[in-house]
Amino acid sequence: MSTDSAKRVYLVVNPHSGYGGHLHSLNGIRQAARAADMPLVEYTTRGPEDATRYVRTIARSARAVIVWGGDGTVNEVAAGLAGSDVPILPCPAGTENLLAKELRVPGDPYKIVQVVRAGRVVDCDMGLINGRSFMLIIGVGFDGEVVRRLAAGRTGHISHLSYFWPIWRTFWEHDFPRMRIVADGEEIFNDYGLAFIGNISRYAVGLRICRDARYDDGLLDLVVFGCREQTALVLHAAWTLLRRHPLKGDVVYRQFRNLRIETDQPVPSQVDGDVGPSTPLDISVAPSRLRLIIPPADERRSYWPWA
Ligand SMILES: [Mg+2]
Repeated sequence: MSTDSAKRVYLVVNPHSGYGGHLHSLNGIRQAARAADMPLVEYTTRGPEDATRYVRTIARSARAVIVWGGDGTVNEVAAGLAGSDVPILPCPAGTENLLAKELRVPGDPYKIVQVVRAGRVVDCDMGLINGRSFMLIIGVGFDGEVVRRLAAGRTGHISHLSYFWPIWRTFWEHDFPRMRIVADGEEIFNDYGLAFIGNISRYAVGLRICRDARYDDGLLDLVVFGCREQTALVLHAAWTLLRRHPLKGDVVYRQFRNLRIETDQPVPSQVDGDVGPSTPLDISVAPSRLRLIIPPADERRSYWPWA
């Protein structure tokens, strides 16, 4: 990381992310930063998109931004700092922390401060869907329907359990749409199914759907599960759990720069876990749009021995 001492390290906190234990760790970060003589400028977000507005105002004076929240908060900070030189460090402090897990950012406050001081700065691609940016993964069809139902019935904090009924009901009621998919000018799918587009490999609850996806290769990864009925979806899910799916059955796996997905009727999508636009979708990669701080290569394994 740059050592320009005139610039400050900022800590952007989403007070509504995660659980009580994370507040304890937040105090730990403050203490660890003080002990390391690294003053933090702390900002607590006030509502949706506040983080984006705030980080735009500090882009010139920031040496780095530590993001204390889940993937939603990371997305907002990324949207505000895309195209700038300011690197961000996403901490695993939300319900879902796919990017922090992908980067193997530790949860321990002292180790987080150590990563800010001694970590590596790397470039990260972002994706664009119908003109709006995304960081992680898109689902088209089944997955979009689940998130749409969840948002419609949402009453408060979301946990993994909140997804149970939306998934259950979507599973029984979903009609798999016919999708025409064109990747870099070539039609690669024209059948019934569901699709995922990933900038990273991880998906919710530890699944790796876009299993070869890398955030820094200038490409996005597409997985299409050919599927017309519920039993086929169960088989796809089983193979995905076994991390074998691109080798089995009616599956397309492909990397691309530009993608178009069309359907007969509008089909919902989810984008990074939130309700996204409906089809038709135009998806492309914006290479090296964001800078990240990641743990030093030799330490990454010791933080996440199982990953
Ligand atoms: Mg990639």
